[in-house]
Amino acid sequence: MVIGIIGGGLSGTLTAIHLLQNAPGGTTICLVEQDRYRMHRGIAYASQLPFQPLNVPAASMSLFPDKPDDFYTWLAEHQHKYSRHLSLPVRETDFIPRHIFGDYLKARLLEAEARKGKGVTFSRAYDEAIAVKREEAAFRIELGSGEAIQADKVVLAFGNFPPASLPIPHPEFYQSDLYVASPWSAKALANLPAEAPVLLIGSSLTMVDLVGSLQAQGHKGTIYVVSRHGLLPQPCDVGTAPYPLKISLPLHAGLSALETFRFIRREITRAEANGYTWRDVLDALRDDIPVIWQAFSLQEKKAFLRHLRPYWETHRHRMPASSAALLQQLQAEGQLEVIAASIVDIQQLGEGACVTLKRRKHAHQEQLTVARVINCTGPQSDFAKIQAPLVRQLLADGMVVPDELKLGLVTTPGGALLGKAGKPIAGLYTLGPSRKGMLYESTALREIRQQAHDLAQELTRSNSAWVKAQQAI
Ligand SMILES: Cc1cc2nc3c(=O)[nH]c(=O)nc-3n(C[C@H](O)[C@H](O)[C@H](O)COP(=O)(O)OP(=O)(O)OC[C@H]3O[C@@H](n4cnc5c(N)ncnc54)[C@H](O)[C@@H]3O)c2cc1C
Repeated sequence: MVIGIIGGGLSGTLTAIHLLQNAPGGTTICLVEQDRYRMHRGIAYASQLPFQPLNVPAASMSLFPDKPDDFYTWLAEHQHKYSRHLSLPVRETDFIPRHIFGDYLKARLLEAEARKGKGVTFSRAYDEAIAVKREEAAFRIELGSGEAIQADKVVLAFGNFPPASLPIPHPEFYQSDLYVASPWSAKALANLPAEAPVLLIGSSLTMVDLVGSLQAQGHKGTIYVVSRHGLLPQPCDVGTAPYPLKISLPLHAGLSALETFRFIRREITRAEANGYTWRDVLDALRDDIPVIWQAFSLQEKKAFLRHLRPYWETHRHRMPASSAALLQQLQAEGQLEVIAASIVDIQQLGEGACVTLKRRKHAHQEQLTVARVINCTGPQSDFAKIQAPLVRQLLADGMVVPDELKLGLVTTPGGALLGKAGKPIAGLYTLGPSRKGMLYESTALREIRQQAHDLAQELTRSNSAWVKAQQAI
């Protein structure tokens, strides 16, 4: 049995690790990654920009749900190698640079590869998968180089796609050198004069990273941050204990977003009376989010996205306290300006970009001139708008279907993809960000590590049945 995994980021690599640990003899695993440097790192953990910390403390970044100390143990063992990047001795509450987590992921893959079972084969293809075609009961993965891989099962671990550009009257601006479409690119801050004003569109964790990187490279110019609500991520608090949440939310079919919000407010009041914080309640709720999300009707999901999403996101996706302090300091010094506004237009004027914006609750428009505009609005999740050849082909052939809210793809609870006919495509799976439409929380390590574990079990189970059937022939 051949299992093809498309995408060598966290999702794909971790699925491969579990398969290497558990697959029976006769299994071939082939991991396809289009970008050599991202193999076993993906976008998040391949970052080459300075100041890119994990947004979760070291103690919570294990790859394995059943070994919660695994990352910290690895880190403690290897900390001296990273003495330039860490303050030693490293603590469980530290926020570690993301590239070090990438090293950990790669190290665990190499160990699993070295210990793989007899008759298990593992290979890497450094190429772009441009199509996955059904061939009787199997698949043909077509690669950009013209080569192809025959696979019995395929896992789409293609992760995060670059943010969508905002609709503006002068979209030709997006072709200009002043615009950075992908904030995770090493080129995002390259050749930027230290005094130049910069605009970051979006005020989430990617923005926080870029402000940190700008500061680390000695940037002196004004940093404008524009987002519709102008809300910043809340700071993390690493000092608290897990909150013993007793779910009493009535999970009925007509559950409303407002009802859920009120439940959470009540639970926070109860928690605070017992010495916990709102952060502890949200963390305790995390595993129940998919169940709550699935109990919402489509209308309630839309209401959540329209009214509550910015508040949920800024409380759920928190920044390290040190990043919060940096942002506060830069704001106080006048170098960072966070503006709640919508972008009306952007045009290149001479050497600069002229940005027209309309502040929230204001009627008039105003203009800023900056030397660079960086899109930090978050990964594009509307698959109908993603231009990657593989996605275009899968959509055209009806092998994947975007969910109604344009957050990801339609899957079964186990991650099998549903095709245009509404039935699972046997042997085709996905995990990670593409499951956001079904689960809502599906992009961070905590969710991905569980999905990778469960998916590898499912693949191994069906693989064992396949091996037995082959032996019987
Ligand atoms: C900047 C950033 C920081 C983050 N920090 C944290 C954090 O601190 N803690 C946390 O819990 N979560 C964090 N996250 C969440 C993050 O989404 C997940 O942790 C994880 O990295 C997602 O992994 P992935 O493999 O699904 O996606 P990706 O990392 O996007 O990897 C997908 C890979 O697939 C490859 N690929 C795509 N299409 C093809 C194709 N057709 N052919 C071949 N290869 C292909 C891409 O090149 C890429 O390397 C962060 C996310 C980002 C973007």
